[in-house]
Amino acid sequence: MLVSIGCICVLFQLALCLPSPKVTYNGHKVLEILHKTEDDFKKLLSMELKFELDIWKMPKHVNDSMYVRVGPQHLEGFVNELGSLNTVVSTLVEDVQQLIDTHSSPRIHQSHSNRRAVNARSSGMDLNSYHIHESINNYLAFLTTQVLPNDVVATVESLGTSVEGRNVQMIKISSPYGAPKRGIFIDGGIHAREWIAPATVVYVIEHLAYNPKNDSNIYSLLSHFDVYLVPVVNPDGYEYTKDVRLWRKNRNTNSGSSCVGVDLNRNFPFQWNPAVGGSTNPCSDIYSGSYKGSEPETANIVNYLLNHGSEFDAYLTIHSYGQMWLYPWGYTSALPNDYLDLDAAAGDAVAAIKSLHRKKYTIGSSTNTLYAAAGGSDDFAKGGAGIKYAYTIELRDTGAYGFSLPTSLIQPTAEEFLAGFLAFAENIFNNGYGK
Ligand SMILES: [Zn+2]
Repeated sequence: MLVSIGCICVLFQLALCLPSPKVTYNGHKVLEILHKTEDDFKKLLSMELKFELDIWKMPKHVNDSMYVRVGPQHLEGFVNELGSLNTVVSTLVEDVQQLIDTHSSPRIHQSHSNRRAVNARSSGMDLNSYHIHESINNYLAFLTTQVLPNDVVATVESLGTSVEGRNVQMIKISSPYGAPKRGIFIDGGIHAREWIAPATVVYVIEHLAYNPKNDSNIYSLLSHFDVYLVPVVNPDGYEYTKDVRLWRKNRNTNSGSSCVGVDLNRNFPFQWNPAVGGSTNPCSDIYSGSYKGSEPETANIVNYLLNHGSEFDAYLTIHSYGQMWLYPWGYTSALPNDYLDLDAAAGDAVAAIKSLHRKKYTIGSSTNTLYAAAGGSDDFAKGGAGIKYAYTIELRDTGAYGFSLPTSLIQPTAEEFLAGFLAFAENIFNNGYGK
């Protein structure tokens, strides 16, 4: 009997049968490293697997800071080896577990399936908490049952399932007013540990659906565009971060390796190339997968955008952290032909962001991104699906909390993103898009 249960566990993946052991990060530090030459940077990257480094922030150029988490067992060896390079090293986070314990609340379960809306301007969804995936899906389903203000309509569609069988849901928010519209696609949660991304997408959904502050910019947006939102692209990874807080990849097994997971944002099938900012090693946090588009979570987005890309004017993928509004290309330092259009629209977005809480977002392009990364979803949206305005947005912060952004910062982070998004949409509409 025990043997057969064991076999079933192997067949259906051990993780589904046993609770995953909680991983802690006691004594782990985040180091800030400044390098002086590209050669030193390459040597630094080559130490990733040897010292089990977790790269929290890639530098954009020589002498830009790189943030690296390193465990206590590797700290001395790593710092010694850094001594042979021309680098400046300082400690950004003294104890990662302490940071997580102090600033990261557990995600809450809040089902909307049997609820009534709190009032005509709110679903009752708690926008100041991080939620489990099931709760977010219940919330989306709930919205489709509601009579929303201003005749706004919410519909939900499944884009497919994850490796572990979770449903990846997309909600479409539309208004009956205005001419037939083109679409804007927003997704979050490609990287599991970036909790602020799904929380921000949920915040945007609630505000587009209910427009609680009667914001005229939201009326404008919905009279010009239909908005399609996927809060959690990588639900297996997202759920896994309840136990392993800093998990980044999906949860696929890799044949020939005991290491789990693919970095979905290196897996998209446009100019896919593990040699450019990815890895061929399944144990790496930036493993690009065994072939382009290999992962079901990637395919969910790819198939939808290939079938519907011609209906969209913009694709925004939400990540954290770093406070950046980035446009393609990630695979090369060359710029798209229309980069001035993308740069100008991003400029309006970051100006609106700054005007709200004075937070500065950097507009990035490949010109100032020395270290490219191929296989990203924004490159695919633009190059593979033909969507003109494709961006990766890195939300707050710039490193103090990193992935453990406190729940008290969900609202300001999300509302400034929404302000930026609305300004962005107005810019592209004024340039003839949306029609
Ligand atoms: Zn990310």
